[in-house]
Amino acid sequence: MALIVHKYGGTSMGSTDRIKNVAKRVAKWHDAGHQIVVVPSAMSGETNRLIGLAKEIMPNPDPRELDMIASTGEQVSVGLLSMALLAIGKQAVSYAGWQVAIKTDSAFTKARIQSIDDAKVRGDLDAGKIVIITGFQGVDENDNIATLGRGGSDTSAVAVAAALKAAECLIYTDVDGVYTTDPRVVSDARRLKTVTFEEMLELASLGSKVLQSRSVEFAGNYRVPTRVLSSLTDPLMPLEEEANSGTLISFEEDTHMEQAVISGIAFNRDEAKITVLGVPDKPGIAYSILGPISDANIEVDMIIQNQSVEGKTDFTFTVSRGEYAKAMDVLNNSVKATLGAASILGDAKVSKVSVVGVGMRSHVGVASQMFRTLSEENINILMISTSEIKISVLIDEKYMELAVRALHKAFELEKA
Ligand code: ASP
Ligand code: MG
Repeated sequence: MALIVHKYGGTSMGSTDRIKNVAKRVAKWHDAGHQIVVVPSAMSGETNRLIGLAKEIMPNPDPRELDMIASTGEQVSVGLLSMALLAIGKQAVSYAGWQVAIKTDSAFTKARIQSIDDAKVRGDLDAGKIVIITGFQGVDENDNIATLGRGGSDTSAVAVAAALKAAECLIYTDVDGVYTTDPRVVSDARRLKTVTFEEMLELASLGSKVLQSRSVEFAGNYRVPTRVLSSLTDPLMPLEEEANSGTLISFEEDTHMEQAVISGIAFNRDEAKITVLGVPDKPGIAYSILGPISDANIEVDMIIQNQSVEGKTDFTFTVSRGEYAKAMDVLNNSVKATLGAASILGDAKVSKVSVVGVGMRSHVGVASQMFRTLSEENINILMISTSEIKISVLIDEKYMELAVRALHKAFELEKA
């Protein structure tokens, strides 16, 4: 017998029939002797509908009031699921975040969980009940409801699992796991049986948006074994089989030596590159270029500064394409004159491709293999950046899919 947290996304909760299916699946786990806590999302489309209503009244909604409204989708979900369980003879009880309580800070619309009181939930579990807790929401120290940001139910589920020291947090979703890359780009992309949470962070933030990134950080920090698996299977499928399906997000120490060096290839189509040409090479230059960019709330990703020639250098960095125009404005309007820079060049048709794998820590040659593969395809590399478990290149967007396919093949990711 184990304590297990299930999380169901909006699609799984999308209609009363689907909710009845969720109830059957949950009941199956409970019947097998496990203690089960369920954290569902709002029914699909519901959070968007609620935010839309708010904006009809107030185009720029007051954040506290917006959270009051947006959080109600999950309250409907927990009530319906609890009833679906009661209707098939199970004991169940639903709670909103504040009733547990899940305590958050007061950053409305993007609050962070600070603590979870497990006393009430444990009491219910010990009394044989299935406990259903709203995702996406908590309550601040002044009893205001606060939501965790879009997709936040993933984080709620992992946080609840951490607080209860659950054996596993199962995230049921409309994909059947985490893949070596996007199967729409590479048809023989393979589902990973395990991935470390560090790799998952890189894979999630770079495109495979299966889980809210913050939930993965949480899983890593609190060591919550978290599994992504399909909610589209038969709810009455054999439990053993279901328990081993999907992708387990694990910890490096627990994975075995035969793990592949590279786990996956992430990519981001929508990048932009900006070069400030002919800036004086003296202390404070990086700060005077990137300071105003960060003041404008623009996130910078890759950065390079060239060797200087006659006291002048070039400085290149990337931003997401959506912020390209804003970044160019900041540079042209303020930085250019103060720096005495010769000119500013931009290219908004670039993409980033990254190979990701914890195995890089102990294997050499990944970078040269990556660069050889790109050169064989005649793909020019514009920028390179590396971390302990990732090598990223910036290339012309025209070649992005070609690069991903070639690298997937070169690293033999289609093979188990
Ligand atoms: N219902 C919220 C959203 O749509 C939270 C979630 O689904 O995870 O963003
Ligand atoms: Mg989601």
